[in-house]
Amino acid sequence: MARIVTILGATGSIGKSTVDLMERDLAREGGPAFKVRAVTAGTKVDELADVARRVKAESAVIRDKSRYGRLKEALDGSGIRVSAGDDAVCEAAAEPADRVLSAIVGAAGVAPTAAAIRAGNDIALANKECLICAGSSFMALAREKGVRILPVDSEHNAIFQLLVDVDPASVDRLVLTASGGPFRAKSADELAKVTVDEALHHPTWSMGPKITVDSATLMNKGLELIEARHLFGFPPEQLGVLIHPQSKVHAFVVFRDGSWHGELGAPDMRRPIDYCLNWPDRAERATSHLDLAEVGTLSFEKPDSERFPALRIAREAMVAGRGAPTVLNAANEIAVAAFLDRRIGFMTIPQLVERVLEEADKAGLLHEPATVEAALVLDGQARDLAAGRLLAA
Ligand code: NAD
Ligand code: MG
Repeated sequence: MARIVTILGATGSIGKSTVDLMERDLAREGGPAFKVRAVTAGTKVDELADVARRVKAESAVIRDKSRYGRLKEALDGSGIRVSAGDDAVCEAAAEPADRVLSAIVGAAGVAPTAAAIRAGNDIALANKECLICAGSSFMALAREKGVRILPVDSEHNAIFQLLVDVDPASVDRLVLTASGGPFRAKSADELAKVTVDEALHHPTWSMGPKITVDSATLMNKGLELIEARHLFGFPPEQLGVLIHPQSKVHAFVVFRDGSWHGELGAPDMRRPIDYCLNWPDRAERATSHLDLAEVGTLSFEKPDSERFPALRIAREAMVAGRGAPTVLNAANEIAVAAFLDRRIGFMTIPQLVERVLEEADKAGLLHEPATVEAALVLDGQARDLAAGRLLAA
């Protein structure tokens, strides 16, 4: 029987990669292995309608209610159901599915993903912000509902594969690799002057704007440390980062006996997505191939948290725990949006995040959010602090 998939954030970078896999599946010899239940998007209504038709989805949901009429018109006669609004996105996430691909960007993905978990749907999780914003309560909710969180993020997907049948006590540490982003070799002075266009030009991965900026500041790797902490349960001192500019090795598990196990593949998100959709089986064929002889050299270096303070700030928030990662994530989302709007400079992003963490601490806000909803309340408070900081700047 075909596996049922819902794609949250179907018009984004991860969403489109998933749509590509579903289109290939529709052409599969012997009939499709998947059936798409619902596709959702924020505002891109024409793209959503196009995607819904291409994957033969049962329903399409646009978050922006003002675009409902346009979506209805675009899908007229297709037999695809349409709806709109935040509640409708959550309802689509909660419809029975074998996998809900969580690929909305930012904390906006928390409520729909939590709705999918509450309905008992297994999650293919690309939206790392769910775990930075609401980590402990999010994982507790998944445990309570007996729902699996399958990691799409390439490093975590690699570790997930590497940890199969591994005794955690035999592991010395987990090492996430990072490309280093477009500014790996820039001096502190040069970093202060980089432009939005330069930041959006990632050397190895093609991704949405928010995560591309996060990769340039190295905040992305900091967020991924926190993500790994929640997914795999290892303490901060057993989580490390190595810069690896070629992005061919996605992570290592280092064993106590000194053995390093890595997962390699071309930098193509379709592979980890395919892995999560097919798990516990493996996809029948590859979407891209890695030719190591052609690559020739793989290199590694230590990250520099002086030039890239976001990595240090995120690590400190991970160690502090409780509400700190929630505040870190919210402040970072506001700072990245302000940078993309050309309101602040590149190096102001980590500065703003650090100031907001200090202010939240002074205001007594850094308590552990007991539930996903409490995490979203703290997220809102941190956004207000960050917006206030921006106005003051
Ligand atoms: P993107 O900006 O390309 O796409 C975001 C999607 O979310 C779009 O479909 C958009 O319509 C939808 N969306 C945005 N705001 C929304 C809202 N408020 N309500 C409902 N839908 C909304 O982002 P992306 O690069 O595809 O990343 C998605 C997530 O996956 C992020 O959390 C990112 O960190 C993570 N991720 C991405 C990659 C990658 O290669 N792009 C890799 C690892 C992890
Ligand atoms: Mg990643």
